[in-house]
Amino acid sequence: MYERNGEYSESLMVHFRRAEGLRKESLDLHSLDLNARQIADLELLLNRALYPLTGYMSREDYESVVENIRLADGTVWSLPICLDVREEVAATLQPGQKLALNDQEGFLLAVMTVQQVWQPDKGKEAALVYGTDNPSVHPGVQQLMNQVHGWYVGGPVEGISLPLHHDFRDLRLTPSETHRRFTQYGWRRVLGFHTEEYLHCAHREMVLAAAREIGASIFLHPVVGLESPGSLDHYTHVRCYLAFVNKFPKNMIMLGLTPLAERWAGPREALWHAIIRKNFGCSHFMVADDHGDPFAGTSMDLFYPRHAAQELVAKYSADTGIEMIPQERMGYLEDKARYVFLKDVNGQAVKDISSRELRHRLEWNLDIPEWFSYPEVVAELRKSFPPRSKQGFTIFLTGLSGSGKSTIARVLMVKFMEMRDRPVTLLDGDIVRKNLSSELTYSREHRNLNVTRIGFVASEITKNGGIALCAPIAPYEESRQANRELISRYGGYIEVYVSTPIEVCEQRDRKGLYAKARAGKIKGVTGVSDPYVPPTNPELTIDTTNLTPAEAVQEILLYLEEQGYLR
Ligand code: ADP
Repeated sequence: MYERNGEYSESLMVHFRRAEGLRKESLDLHSLDLNARQIADLELLLNRALYPLTGYMSREDYESVVENIRLADGTVWSLPICLDVREEVAATLQPGQKLALNDQEGFLLAVMTVQQVWQPDKGKEAALVYGTDNPSVHPGVQQLMNQVHGWYVGGPVEGISLPLHHDFRDLRLTPSETHRRFTQYGWRRVLGFHTEEYLHCAHREMVLAAAREIGASIFLHPVVGLESPGSLDHYTHVRCYLAFVNKFPKNMIMLGLTPLAERWAGPREALWHAIIRKNFGCSHFMVADDHGDPFAGTSMDLFYPRHAAQELVAKYSADTGIEMIPQERMGYLEDKARYVFLKDVNGQAVKDISSRELRHRLEWNLDIPEWFSYPEVVAELRKSFPPRSKQGFTIFLTGLSGSGKSTIARVLMVKFMEMRDRPVTLLDGDIVRKNLSSELTYSREHRNLNVTRIGFVASEITKNGGIALCAPIAPYEESRQANRELISRYGGYIEVYVSTPIEVCEQRDRKGLYAKARAGKIKGVTGVSDPYVPPTNPELTIDTTNLTPAEAVQEILLYLEEQGYLR
């Protein structure tokens, strides 16, 4: 570890006079704009959640941690904390040189003094820290191999500004501030509870039972800020946590938020979380039997053996000074109207609602019983996950020119205007081409770009509860797939393949397009001299050869009704 004045100080932030000097100096320094993962690590370094580290690890510490779960001086530490940089950057760095560390907008957060620059053996790091060097079986290893840059830099940091947060500022206490609160409240024993899930009645019973048993109060310390793909946002989570802590007896629980870039390193991850909570002043830490597992809470098999995380945290508890409390699962016994530990039920049927089932109930506006969750928590969830009948959606019509996309879209538009419960926007192929995409050609690349631009606009409309009707030809699967992924995060996505065959489209030839193509007057016409790749999994396929527009539209309306989008 680096010798440094202030090794024991409560933060690595420097005095403002020194900060003024460093700010001036930084104008001439090499600088690095950190990514979200690196900013999360830096914040924990600066606020000393990573005590006793005073900067990014030296090579010696790094290797010792990877091999022995200890820093070079013997202190227990489970995960590498190094600044990763690209090779081109590494080549410009010399020991002794200062490096300015900025946030993503280039705002100066800290200055580090480079002490070592090296190329780590990532395969070895992966095998020893994660238990595999195969990125395809472990998302943490995937991140290490593909997103973490190939060179590491070690050296002490001097903090100038903590990363800025404008949300929930009262809850973002530093370790020292948190510890001071515990002292003020007279809390000598504190059970740290790490979570990223929504919490309901079972969690309250479980954490209260554990805390009572050891005579501790509870520090609920969820991780926020680094949005995992697919998750909506952390605002809903935090509002739910605020409602949840209100359900506890007075002076029993305190809520704090922390950033944390997860590595999903299973047992080593859990040990790292425990050390961090010790640094926030906790005496005990709750560990689930699948804590830190990349597949915890999914339908996939766990990567690490069940209980391995609990065992590792317990094994090192004398060194780390924080005790491991196993998280015991609970279920609801209807006869007794109370929660019981699953290990005590002796074959009686207990009730539970999985997170998937919960999502289903929200989506279909079904009952969520009071034994399962608190009305205040459910109210927050219902705001963020409205039922389908209140969600926005996109109807994406794809097919050849003349297949009937615009006609169907226009009739649908009129139907939705009649219903009037959501705003409607029509993004017709030809009209978009004249406005949003006027500079694009009909190359594969530009066709895809045109389609994803339409998708972006549709996603914004869907996010805000509207209906987007899109009617481009969209001949390629890759851009249609990208739109599906983007838009279905925010609401419904209904892909309609208008499969009218080319002969029929050509016969109709509304725009004289096919005649011109056959006469060789224009090139690159989809279906004639350019490909159309049919969708692999459309929600609906409609061939308009023998249907009227009204009939085609009725098929779509029936589908929407059946799927719960219309009331
Ligand atoms: P696209 O937008 O796919 O290029 P258009 O909607 O502009 O196609 O043209 C389709 C043509 O086919 C129109 O002339 C329309 O009247 C005719 N048509 C016949 N039956 C149908 C149907 N069931 N749905 C849509 N259009 C139909």
